[in-house]
Amino acid sequence: MKERLQQLRGFYEGYNTRSYQFRKQQLQKLKAAILHHEEDLYEALYSDLKKSREESWVTEVGFLVAEINHTLKHLHRWMKPQKVRTNLMNLPSKSFVYKEPLGVVLIIGPWNYPLQLLFTPLVGAMAAGNCAVLKPSEFAPATSAVMKLIIEESFSKEYIFYAEGEGATIIPQMMNAFRFDHIFYTGSIPVGKLIYEMAAKQLVPVTLELGGKSPCVVESDAKLTVAAKRIALTKFSNAGQMCVAPDYILVHQAVKEKFSEELKRCVQQFFSEDPSGSYNYGKIINEKQFNRLVNYLQHGRIVYGGKHNAASLYIEPTIIEDIPIESTIMEEEIFGPVLPILTFHSFEEAKAIIERNSNPLAFYIFTESKEREKRWIEKISFGGGCVNNASWHLTNFNLPFGGRGKSGIGAYHGKYSFDAFSHQKAIMKTPTWFDPKIKYPPFKGKLNLFKKLIR
Ligand code: NAD
Repeated sequence: MKERLQQLRGFYEGYNTRSYQFRKQQLQKLKAAILHHEEDLYEALYSDLKKSREESWVTEVGFLVAEINHTLKHLHRWMKPQKVRTNLMNLPSKSFVYKEPLGVVLIIGPWNYPLQLLFTPLVGAMAAGNCAVLKPSEFAPATSAVMKLIIEESFSKEYIFYAEGEGATIIPQMMNAFRFDHIFYTGSIPVGKLIYEMAAKQLVPVTLELGGKSPCVVESDAKLTVAAKRIALTKFSNAGQMCVAPDYILVHQAVKEKFSEELKRCVQQFFSEDPSGSYNYGKIINEKQFNRLVNYLQHGRIVYGGKHNAASLYIEPTIIEDIPIESTIMEEEIFGPVLPILTFHSFEEAKAIIERNSNPLAFYIFTESKEREKRWIEKISFGGGCVNNASWHLTNFNLPFGGRGKSGIGAYHGKYSFDAFSHQKAIMKTPTWFDPKIKYPPFKGKLNLFKKLIR
């Protein structure tokens, strides 16, 4: 392992990844390989998660192609040293921020969007001129096999290394053998803590894209039909196994009944009377997750759905109400097709519920009032979110995507990915023709002049 990883170090130190031409060509290769294997990816994503081709395009393959296109379009500009102003004291120097690659980076992916969440950071790492080790999740094996093929067909092993294996074994093994220059991790909070701890021992900087309980507030003035449609779409997409899916609903008491009815109607319309046979509905990744989710069904009163089948890893889109606030379903991230509906009477009451799991990755507010919108955005701390929408903010590559506090460290997508994988090297260039005596000792008597220059 050590030797394998040292080869990446050698390739990086040989300045092979630095030029614009190299970065551009490699990104083009990645895009071509993804498109070449488009059918294989659809089959694999169906096999791992029962994703339809359409859902796979929007959330995985097409998402990635759009990210690569955006990066290719802007990369040349992003790479240029950025000129910044110089303060009075340092004139006539000129100041610049150079974007330097970090070196050899480790990217660790989860299973729920196995392609998107491993390769989108890779696009940023490649664009910024790094070498990368990719560690996919072992729980989406079909997609992992296609991703391996894409990487190994397209890139030399010294440039991008696809490291398969069980996370708990291979990651410590790699980190003991080698010092990475950055670790980009997407996954659960408990494993994120382990990664952070291992990285801290070697002072390796990290980006942590974690999870949490993302609340979705429906105010009394919300357009309920639209709200229900938009919430049902993203909550039950990928059978709820989405880091930014609404975890639970907080609906104003005054509109609770109407909203609940609308929501049930939408779920039925999208996924039919029997979602087990629906083209639009996915499956749970494995038995461990299935059992965890089925257990949640006892935490409240099921008002819609609830059917499940262990053999096909199927859990019906389920809405539950009357949930005690102390139950585990209101403490753990649900990460599946179970949607609790809670009610609130006042902003303070809803805020107190949200604060029980502070700093969520995402937050959604449905309201027609600008004032309410402002209050929710300003008074709740969260990674990112939407007004009158749910989850779609992450598909805009002009927005930074990431958590805060417990839901993560750092952000990426588009230019933010390039920055996440770059060191910002500050450079001041000072001409030699101007070298006033005042800068040098003796200093006695110059205080007033210094006070004028430095303030
Ligand atoms: P996970 O933490 O179990 O696994 C993620 C990765 O860590 C995998 O590659 C796995 O092999 C590795 N891993 C597992 N145990 C390890 C250990 N002991 N030591 C080192 N590495 C280990 O996460 P998951 O179940 O794949 O994904 C679900 C979680 O990820 C949810 O909490 C979800 O919210 C979060 N998530 C976050 C985002 C985001 O963008 N913020 C996106 C998707 C998922």
